[in-house]
Amino acid sequence: MKCLESGTSYAEQFSEDGPASQTVSGVIKMTKISGSCLCGAIRYQGDVDIKMIINCHCDDCRRATGSVHGTMIFVPEDSLEISGSPKGFDHAADSGSTLTKLFCENCGSQVFGKNTSREGVIGIRAGTLDQKELIKPGMNLFKSSAIASTPMDPDIKVFDKMPS
Ligand SMILES: [Zn+2]
Ligand SMILES: [Zn+2]
Repeated sequence: MKCLESGTSYAEQFSEDGPASQTVSGVIKMTKISGSCLCGAIRYQGDVDIKMIINCHCDDCRRATGSVHGTMIFVPEDSLEISGSPKGFDHAADSGSTLTKLFCENCGSQVFGKNTSREGVIGIRAGTLDQKELIKPGMNLFKSSAIASTPMDPDIKVFDKMPS
């Protein structure tokens, strides 16, 4: 079981069965963002289109982030300016694509994720973002793997695993 790692077309893919009041969840056009790892050796900034924000409760995201779920913000990679040199860790997804976790070698913060099947998109770990007000996840994924005590917003979509 592997997680959704990045999302070029998630908005298009998942926008149909949501609550009527919901706009395409998590999509924000051209907004200025910045962030950093815990020690500040890795920083990023850019004017980005946020494609999608998700909470992922899969086992990989929990282990990778060390938290009860991962929250990812997907943006076009070329709109993000990254300073510092994150170290990469690759692992395989069920789909056959390779997922890469990018983290600070000094403090250990995981800052980005990439997926070979989603060229040109990078996932930012939401906890590293300076603009906390932008972090509005549009869906919860892998509810089937979630920690029972983890609250889930009833107003956003929930998927037991990966939506197909
Ligand atoms: Zn995941
Ligand atoms: Zn660091």
